[in-house]
Amino acid sequence: MSPLDVIERTRTWPSAMTGRPLPGRCRFCGTSFRHRVVDLGMSPLCESFLRADQLNQMEAFYPLNVWVCERCFLVQLEEYVTWEEIFTDYAYFSSFSDSWLSHCRLYVDQMIEQLDLTKESSVIEIASNDGYLLQFFVQRGIPALGIEPAANVAKVAESKGVPTIVKFFGVDTARELAAAGRQADLILGNNVLAQVPNLNDFIGGLKILLGPAGVVTIEFPHLLKTIDGNQFDQVYHEHFSYFSLYAAEGIFAAHGLPIFDVEELSTHGGSIRIYAHHAEDTTRDVTDRLVALRAREADAGIATLSYYEDFESRVRETKRKLLEFLIEAKRAGKRVVGYGAPGKGNTLLNYCGIRTDFVDFTVDRSPHKHGKFLPGTHIPIFPPEQLWATRPDYVLILPWNLKSEIMEQLAGIREWGGRFVVPIPEVTVYP
Ligand SMILES: [Zn+2]
Repeated sequence: MSPLDVIERTRTWPSAMTGRPLPGRCRFCGTSFRHRVVDLGMSPLCESFLRADQLNQMEAFYPLNVWVCERCFLVQLEEYVTWEEIFTDYAYFSSFSDSWLSHCRLYVDQMIEQLDLTKESSVIEIASNDGYLLQFFVQRGIPALGIEPAANVAKVAESKGVPTIVKFFGVDTARELAAAGRQADLILGNNVLAQVPNLNDFIGGLKILLGPAGVVTIEFPHLLKTIDGNQFDQVYHEHFSYFSLYAAEGIFAAHGLPIFDVEELSTHGGSIRIYAHHAEDTTRDVTDRLVALRAREADAGIATLSYYEDFESRVRETKRKLLEFLIEAKRAGKRVVGYGAPGKGNTLLNYCGIRTDFVDFTVDRSPHKHGKFLPGTHIPIFPPEQLWATRPDYVLILPWNLKSEIMEQLAGIREWGGRFVVPIPEVTVYP
């Protein structure tokens, strides 16, 4: 069987597991883990920023072990921490970057045209956050509904005119909505799939909620980019799964939602947007770009265990190079500070053991984080003005996926000879 032959593959595909994923087993097909991709050591939850009065308290660290399933090639973490523990207090107020918002607006225009969406259509976003994306559909007069588990965030969406229900998404929620006649012409999810512990319940829900001729679009960081680009800092406890197109095609097909198209995007260090429809819908053909990406993944060996084998040694070398740079800079008496406080930064800093011995502080645009400390490393977070007050020699850009935008915003540091450092795919200094 050719790895490209998705139809043939799905015939022999393990049926999706039902119920909650079991410890030590693949959250899609239930196969026991035997092949580790990388061990990133112990790390705290990346969004658990500390207040000053918490610095002397005990802090919870969990393993960050990444596995690849030998049967379906889903790359994943075990659920060391329950979803509820992570997300109950996860007030992710989208401090969305400007480039991300324009990405969303473009998507909305594109979908309205591509799917002929009108005032009669219905669009649903899963994990719609504060309505950052659906607001653009509402502005164009297209009925939209958000599903968002965090009540405080949903309230902000409502205030922007985006109707939002406060629920976790899965088969139960989808059944309720479908019974109320709320099936959708377009269902979308951006960077939510990775965060779903019960993948089969989530995708099973999409199958129920999608109208007969509807389309599902889902965006997620592309595993091919994560592995090839040494992007190990994409791994954190909140991200349970890491998808190749190959793995995603198997999983969606098993739920009767075959993928018929895919787009490659530059967001989050290289993402893909998959398009799925009902297996029963015969109106859409597989696109050339889908066939092309399948071929590229197959050439890379994405469905072979050897593809994953040298990742760990490359990750360790990336760590050594970053530490080498920092040790030299500190020996030369240079001042190094950070920019940003993203989840990926916390994985990087904890894995590499970088604390205030190397990085004095970091700055972030989000006022919610000011005066707090990064989990594990206890690096303090200040407003961006602190850069100008302290005139550091190097600014280590933690959200390196936004490096162009950030270097443009902070171009002024060059006045005192300040330079930018980007840690991934390997440490690079920008004059
Ligand atoms: Zn599996």
